[in-house]
Amino acid sequence: MPESHDSAVPGVAIVGGGPAGLIAAEILRAAGVEVDLFEAKGSVGRKFLIAGKGGLNLTHSEPFDAFVARYGTRSGAVSRWLRRFDADALRDWARGHGVKTFVGSSGRVFPADLKAAPLLRGWVRRLRESGVRFHVQHRWLGWDDDGALHFGTPQGERRVRARATLLALGGASWPQLGSDGAWVAPLQQAGIAVAPLQPANCGFDADWSAHFAQRHAGAPLKPVVLHWNDAHGTAQQLQGECVITATGIEGSAIYAIAADLREAIHRDGGTTLWLDLAPGREATRLASDLARPRGKRSASEHLRRSAGIDGVRAGLLREAAGTALPGDPQALAALLKRLPVRLLRPRPVAEAISTAGGVRLEALDHALMAQARPGVFVAGEMLDWEAPTGGYLLTACFASGVVAAEGMLAWLVAGGNATPASGTGAAMR
Ligand SMILES: Cc1cc2nc3c(=O)[nH]c(=O)nc-3n(C[C@H](O)[C@H](O)[C@H](O)COP(=O)(O)OP(=O)(O)OC[C@H]3O[C@@H](n4cnc5c(N)ncnc54)[C@H](O)[C@@H]3O)c2cc1C
Repeated sequence: MPESHDSAVPGVAIVGGGPAGLIAAEILRAAGVEVDLFEAKGSVGRKFLIAGKGGLNLTHSEPFDAFVARYGTRSGAVSRWLRRFDADALRDWARGHGVKTFVGSSGRVFPADLKAAPLLRGWVRRLRESGVRFHVQHRWLGWDDDGALHFGTPQGERRVRARATLLALGGASWPQLGSDGAWVAPLQQAGIAVAPLQPANCGFDADWSAHFAQRHAGAPLKPVVLHWNDAHGTAQQLQGECVITATGIEGSAIYAIAADLREAIHRDGGTTLWLDLAPGREATRLASDLARPRGKRSASEHLRRSAGIDGVRAGLLREAAGTALPGDPQALAALLKRLPVRLLRPRPVAEAISTAGGVRLEALDHALMAQARPGVFVAGEMLDWEAPTGGYLLTACFASGVVAAEGMLAWLVAGGNATPASGTGAAMR
């Protein structure tokens, strides 16, 4: 029979051992607060470790105003967190943990060794040494009627009371790493408003023919220029890289514009992305190259020789135009410069790099405490904001963890029943 036992922790409970929860644990413990950290998986920081596979893009070196603009409609709220803990603070923090960082050619910031594991290992060791108590394999299931935190563990159920709680449970992407969005129901039941979780920094499905998918899945398009209409209907373009997949298209350039594409699909049931398959070649030059006599060459060979279009680019052209390519060189050039790809839906959130939606900021005060549940704070990716890749995700997770931890400190100092000193009590927007 699984056991069930109740306990009270002397200080705060942090639920979720990602960057947001860990930085909060560090701050609270440094202030002398007793910290018990509960984590569903057998170890903490699994998504942080996976981010290390891509070199661990910790943050970005661009100026503050440009940085906060990356958070779109949430830039006002996120800028408040970043004023407390910004990109430089994050780099200083890493240095404090013995990890130097450098600015890559794109302005992105990485640890010198491009790895997450040494940073995470040292961080967790120092947290343990400082007295943070880790409780792994503790899956938070919600609150009991009497307000205790309810966990499922291999040994049975456990109920825990704390003076204050931080929920830092992550989004719903890559659920195999621990964050699965199962927290939505208990939060909603507690009266904490949650915007629907959606994929961000994700790929999209397109209606490829079986032949094209079989032949070109995995093929990169680099460089390519993407044309799309943003949320205001304004034409936008971006040069970058993407990859054809068996079901559609993904890659860094797609992730960068994914929010616009997702919203357009949501609104209109589908959207069109236009690919410039011959970036760097003007349409007029392309048309005159294509107008050169073809001789005995096949159409494919002519395209390859005169316009450099072959492989996946030729495949995309056939997908859009069928076998009957425009005979007129100008029309063909125009198609190559603006090849329509119909996008049907984003890939599921489980495959996305990050999650949009989450706990509505309006449900929290400026210290990130839930208005409906005093003493419960929320931080990290489970909050309702989104940003492109580039280090913006981790930076906002750290910054919100810092703000929530300081809010918890103020809450504890105030005796756990007053508006935290750092907050105004007003809802956050
Ligand atoms: C492949 C990949 C690469 C990435 N690369 C980068 C990058 O280079 N730069 C960047 O800025 N961002 C990157 N990200 C995003 C970044 O890793 C996340 O935004 C960040 O880790 C979120 O931090 P968090 O603390 O909010 O949540 P998480 O890191 O998701 O941590 C939440 C923790 O809570 C635990 N948990 C969840 N539910 C429960 C529960 N019910 N009970 C107890 N514990 C629970 C989870 O197991 C997890 O350990 C990447 C993401 C992915 C998937």
